[in-house]
Amino acid sequence: MNVLETARKILLLEQKEGFRDRAVVGGLDGFLEQVRKVALPTLDEADRRHLSLAIRPLEGYSRASMRDRKEMLDGALHALGQALVEERAAPLPARETPAGRPQREAKESTRRKLPPAKRGPAPSSCELDTPIDRVPGVTAALVPRLRKLGVERARDLLEMYPFRHMDRSSFTPIGELRAGEDATVLGTIWDIRSERRRGGVVTTNAVVADKTGSVAVTWFNQPYLTKTLRQHSEVVLSGKIELFRGRPQLRAPDWELLTEDDLLHTGRIVPVYHLTEGLNQRGMRRLMKRAVDAFAPQLAEFLPDDVRRGSNLMSLSEAVAQYHFPDSWAARDQAQRRLAFDELFLIQLAVQQRRRLWQEGQPGVVLSPEPGWLDRVTAELPFELTGAQRKVLADVLSDMSSGRPMNRLVQGDVGSGKTVVAALAMLLTAQQGCQSVLMAPTEILAEQHFRAIGALFDQLAGGPFQAPRIALLTGSVKGKARREALDGLISGSISAAVGTQALIQEGVELHRLGLAVVDEQHRFGVEQRGSLRQKGFNPHLLVMTATPIPRTLGLTIYGDLDISIIDEMPPGRQPIKTRWFGPEERQRAYNFIRRQVQEGRQAFIICPLVEESEKMEVRAATAEYERLRRLVFPEFELGLLHGRLKNREKHEVMQAFARNDTNILVSTSVVEVGIDVPNATVMAIEGAERFGLAQLHQFRGRVGRGEHQSYCILLSDSPSAELNPRLKAIEETQSGFRLAEIDLELRGPGDVLGAGKRQSGLEELKVAKLTDVDLVEESRRAATLLLQRDPELDATPALRAQLVHVRERAEVS
Ligand code: ADP
Ligand code: MG
Repeated sequence: MNVLETARKILLLEQKEGFRDRAVVGGLDGFLEQVRKVALPTLDEADRRHLSLAIRPLEGYSRASMRDRKEMLDGALHALGQALVEERAAPLPARETPAGRPQREAKESTRRKLPPAKRGPAPSSCELDTPIDRVPGVTAALVPRLRKLGVERARDLLEMYPFRHMDRSSFTPIGELRAGEDATVLGTIWDIRSERRRGGVVTTNAVVADKTGSVAVTWFNQPYLTKTLRQHSEVVLSGKIELFRGRPQLRAPDWELLTEDDLLHTGRIVPVYHLTEGLNQRGMRRLMKRAVDAFAPQLAEFLPDDVRRGSNLMSLSEAVAQYHFPDSWAARDQAQRRLAFDELFLIQLAVQQRRRLWQEGQPGVVLSPEPGWLDRVTAELPFELTGAQRKVLADVLSDMSSGRPMNRLVQGDVGSGKTVVAALAMLLTAQQGCQSVLMAPTEILAEQHFRAIGALFDQLAGGPFQAPRIALLTGSVKGKARREALDGLISGSISAAVGTQALIQEGVELHRLGLAVVDEQHRFGVEQRGSLRQKGFNPHLLVMTATPIPRTLGLTIYGDLDISIIDEMPPGRQPIKTRWFGPEERQRAYNFIRRQVQEGRQAFIICPLVEESEKMEVRAATAEYERLRRLVFPEFELGLLHGRLKNREKHEVMQAFARNDTNILVSTSVVEVGIDVPNATVMAIEGAERFGLAQLHQFRGRVGRGEHQSYCILLSDSPSAELNPRLKAIEETQSGFRLAEIDLELRGPGDVLGAGKRQSGLEELKVAKLTDVDLVEESRRAATLLLQRDPELDATPALRAQLVHVRERAEVS
């Protein structure tokens, strides 16, 4: 206990009670006698001196007059106060840890650090491939639970990385505990007892003190605690400080007896794991510590030395050990960097090898335009190509004539004019006697592409060429039309097919596939790309995406694609004014739409997202359509578009809107991608806070496609939507690239990528963060360098083996 503090409290009480010598039973003289006899000898040098100095003025207190008592007390309290202040400022004395090493002094004088937990020797019988049921520390009950988490062998256990770490490496003096903080304290248990309350709850209450004060500690329903934690035990407690009846209290803290071999849970930077049933954080840590000590040293280094040196990386064993139980924050960061590098590096190797295979395996069809072809053809276009479009087309044409299969991603914001790039590549393919296919993510979009590209073909063909025949092939093209399309594709009389995923499904055979175009790539995965490729003879592949992938993601998942960016909008495009309207401003929003329509423009109104079922969404959209038509815009023509309409009906609705027969199109999110109606200037999105950023940006991209100033109106019935960071971002940002990056920050790569995630191997990322641009680039650079030197990784069998493992798990190849 802290005698100085106790003495001070007693003297303060005496002062408060008016110097009547009643603060302690037997009077102050008796108390001081006890202090001199019992307490002083147990104190260390400094405290002993302080205390004896402090009590000296109190000599003869009981016999002194009231006035003298007051002065005596003032003197003693002053001395004690001094002593306490000095004591708090002074470093706590070094103490021996159970491991027998003296503790290091901390940088801050009131704090000290314990030495890092020592790492025990690895039992020689342990192997990394030891089945989990034979790993020491894994109880029979744990085996099935760990298996459920995919842990089969000891090495899998090592990969159960903590998802964060907590700093419990320094101790807070108990006297300085503040409510609301997380703290770790080192103290002695003065008192501990469990009691069963009414209702059956068992509370264990303890008082734990160090030199600076004491704190109440409470645990719930852990009656067994009193078996381990006893009076006089020294403990380290970590937890949140709460205020209980005006005093700081530690509620259900993690605890550790100082006699344990290693300070696992406290007194260090501790790992925090995802838990499984029946295993709490303490149990998990103990298990992991044993596993790490036993198995991490056995991990074989698979990175070549020069890669490790070149990228400045920790060894694998060390990284695994330090990532679980770091000696310092710096060590943790280094460990994380190494493990993250591995994940990214292996993906990079996989995609870059795949690309090599793809390009070197089979020659690509040479589709080479005659001199002057591009100029001749573009002269027929209704508009001038932008510089960016020309640049991208030059990339595409040079790929297609290279003799190697093109493998190119075209990134371009919504409205940047990707379709015409694809159309020209398809035209060239047809004119060279090959076929092309274009896959779109929805039927509506496929139809739109079909019409747009058909029209371009008619315009551009000219000269000695017939306009190539083009077919639409979606799930709802049936009967005779479908048969004709399929026959034409087999015979080669049809040169281009536009469709949905149905294109690559069974029954579709092609005569001579030279080019495959995939629109909105992020909805397709590697598998579809692969199966498209198998349909033909290693065709050129052109992938177009309107939802720009942040650069880091692009580098990672498209490591096997060349990237061209259309970073320029067709001339005359103005930024789309975007604004959020609160619930009370709905009428103003409607009036705004009304004025636009009166001026001859058109508007989209998107209904809120209903995630439960499409049927419910359709019902809600229909009701909203009826409401708007009858009550809000009775003077206008409204159309309704939703996912349950037959294809022909959708087509009619879209056509009517494109002809400006309908002024306002009410729609569910099916209108999301690619729809092109240049006269539409208002995109109103109901329940905007329920949509993702990419989706909002796509919606907005439906307007601003013509010469008129366009607007995006975000509507919501929820007043708090104003605080939604996504809505704020879309209001303030026009660039799809920037929005995609914000999206990545807000949501993480999994959601941003959707289906592309698993195939790309990104789902396997446990440590790496794709927002870490530097490391992504570092890993890409290192992979390129290594493969240049050793394409088959012959010199590094360990790395090659690791790569096979990654490929199997991530379906990268
Ligand atoms: P996205 O890149 O979103 O697929 P689209 O290819 O649908 O964009 O093009 C958007 C609109 O811009 C279309 O109406 C298209 O005809 C038009 N467009 C494309 N390129 C140009 C250009 N260079 N100048 C003017 N309009 C263009
Ligand atoms: Mg498009």
